[in-house]
Amino acid sequence: MSDGISLNGLVKEFKLGRRSVTALTGVDLRTPQGSFLSLLGPSGCGKSTVLRILAGLEKPTAGEALLHGEAPSVARSSHHLGIAFQDSALLPWRSVTANIRLPLEVAGIRPGKNQVSDLIKLVGLEGFEKARPAQLSGGMRQRVAIARALVVEPKVLLLDEPFGALDDMTRQRLNMELQRIWSERAVTTLLVTHSISEAVFLSDVVAVMSPRPGTVVAEVPIELPRPRTPDVMRTPEFHAYQDKLSELLFGPGTQE
Ligand code: ADP
Ligand code: MG
Repeated sequence: MSDGISLNGLVKEFKLGRRSVTALTGVDLRTPQGSFLSLLGPSGCGKSTVLRILAGLEKPTAGEALLHGEAPSVARSSHHLGIAFQDSALLPWRSVTANIRLPLEVAGIRPGKNQVSDLIKLVGLEGFEKARPAQLSGGMRQRVAIARALVVEPKVLLLDEPFGALDDMTRQRLNMELQRIWSERAVTTLLVTHSISEAVFLSDVVAVMSPRPGTVVAEVPIELPRPRTPDVMRTPEFHAYQDKLSELLFGPGTQE
């Protein structure tokens, strides 16, 4: 069986006029199918660049990225890929249902009988099927964005700080739900985040990145039992993972 996500010697340089910026150098990472991987690191370390390469939105300068053994362009055109960003980017004139259905329309695929309503249930938006984005809270809009990413029944889900603009309590609740959605759909997931606790709570493996130039400095497997509930965040094991990651990010003797 091929890897879920596989990054092999990724390098990315951006040209800015005559200067060039090395955003990534030698990024290597492999995860099994169905696993939950987080990329954790400070702003500017190249997390979104990795995600955009996997999404087929940028080409690497060197190296390759594979999703379930497929190149990003292939995964994309075969609808094996779902993506959600911090900005939900919903179409304001479309209802919740019509926004979620959109990727299928674009692909010319007819939705299965209960496909969209099942997803609305999965993300907890029953009763809001006909609502427009402006009538929803920020958290609800991100639920719609995740449902829309899942509507093509992707093998791989790419999430770039999907809850980054939300308040802490909403964010925690949505992280609980994301865990449930991930386990119900068994989708290989890559989450970009700069929150240590979010990464520990959700991940099978946290890849820690450092900037200038961006690279993976450590891979930390998170061996906490699942399903994880908010209680786990108060355990010594959880705190030990947080300490270890903040040490990798900021050096010894520092906390988040
Ligand atoms: P992160 O998501 O971790 O905050 P990014 O992947 O967005 O980091 O950016 C990594 C580095 O690459 C930064 O120095 C950023 O300025 C640079 N960069 C990203 N996209 C571009 C681009 N399109 N053109 C030039 N530089 C870019
Ligand atoms: Mg980013």
